[in-house]
Amino acid sequence: MAAGDAPIGAGVPGGATAGDPAAGDAPIGAGVPGGATAGDPAAGGAPAGAAVPGGAAAGDVAVAGRGGARGVPAQAPDADWDRAVALISSASEVALACHVSPDGDALGSMLAAGAALRAAGKRVTASFGDRRFAVPRLLRFLPGQDLLVEPARYPAAPELMVTFDVSTVDRLGTLAESAGRAGELIVVDHHPSNPGFGTLNLIDPAAASTTTLVERLLHRLGLPIDEAIATCLYVGLVTDTGSFRHSSTTPAAHDMAARLVAAGPDPEEIARRLWDSSPFGYLKVLGAVLGRATLEPEVGGGLVWTFVTRADRAPYGLPYDEVEGIIDVVRRTGEAEVTVVLKEDDDGAWQVSTRSRGGVDVARVCSALGGGGHARAAGFTSRLPVEETMAGLRALL
Ligand code: 5GP
Ligand code: MN
Repeated sequence: MAAGDAPIGAGVPGGATAGDPAAGDAPIGAGVPGGATAGDPAAGGAPAGAAVPGGAAAGDVAVAGRGGARGVPAQAPDADWDRAVALISSASEVALACHVSPDGDALGSMLAAGAALRAAGKRVTASFGDRRFAVPRLLRFLPGQDLLVEPARYPAAPELMVTFDVSTVDRLGTLAESAGRAGELIVVDHHPSNPGFGTLNLIDPAAASTTTLVERLLHRLGLPIDEAIATCLYVGLVTDTGSFRHSSTTPAAHDMAARLVAAGPDPEEIARRLWDSSPFGYLKVLGAVLGRATLEPEVGGGLVWTFVTRADRAPYGLPYDEVEGIIDVVRRTGEAEVTVVLKEDDDGAWQVSTRSRGGVDVARVCSALGGGGHARAAGFTSRLPVEETMAGLRALL
């Protein structure tokens, strides 16, 4: 099928059924065979044991309003998707934002939505609120980066603002003020820890990636997904599922990958850009960081941890974002239930990444330390020395 012929997934053979996560991907009124239940497309598709904090039931109404929201729904109700479509359709200008230090899902979601909205004739601004604004080298191949503006040039009070993969207001960095002044703030996210800080919240913790929700949104808007947009969506999906290895790797995730790859992106090329293009200095830093890894079998069912400093990176001129993936090597440790990597950023703060095999809810642990994330992948920022940060973590494991 030529890219752009039809919205991806329209007329998918096999017929999405109620309770099938893919059912929610159908455009409104598309007459999905099998009868997707309005307002409840994805709930039945949640993997067993995908507990929603607070015990919110599927179909709970997302609490609107900034701050103080409680009871994140298992997924946003249909009426919220309808309202998002109405708000976006009637806007002539849309300001998009993703989280600071964007990863593939954050930037991929935002750029995919931006490209589709621009093609639909909207004026689009997109950014993220890092004080040192730069797209991580690994993500510079993503198409549509001409949409990006520095945070200083971001609208101060956008009429309509949409955030992607942003789990809390502070993950907006310097764009948090714009969000506070936005006429409407649509929050598109899949973090269970998201409090629902928008005026409208499209939050689905069962979604493998935020790009999953963007695909759903573009469908509902009736906007086509061309090769460039599919590339952005695929990058979010493949990075957030850990190349289809994590617990979020559901049939729906593979279905989405199939739809996207059919629209043109080359998985081999994308994988090479994302994971097989490190500068040689990365190997040297990795060697040092692995050399100082510590295994503490008695903590949290087995804890493996290490850290990477600015001084480790300096001799090789290795930028901070190049070390983000080190945790994927450290977590290979078979004896460990929990993996922790502390990364010193260019401002001297420690960005702490945590991973669990499912026995420990690291989102709970990181939330208690001022961060957030998913049950099996979460993080927080610390300004304490490494040993003090680790003592705080151990106490919660
Ligand atoms: P990573 O370790 O890959 O940076 O992040 C893992 C998960 O934790 C992601 O879902 C990310 O959004 C979340 N996360 C990482 N750092 C922070 C943080 O400082 N605050 C919050 N709220 N979430 C974080
Ligand atoms: Mn994500």
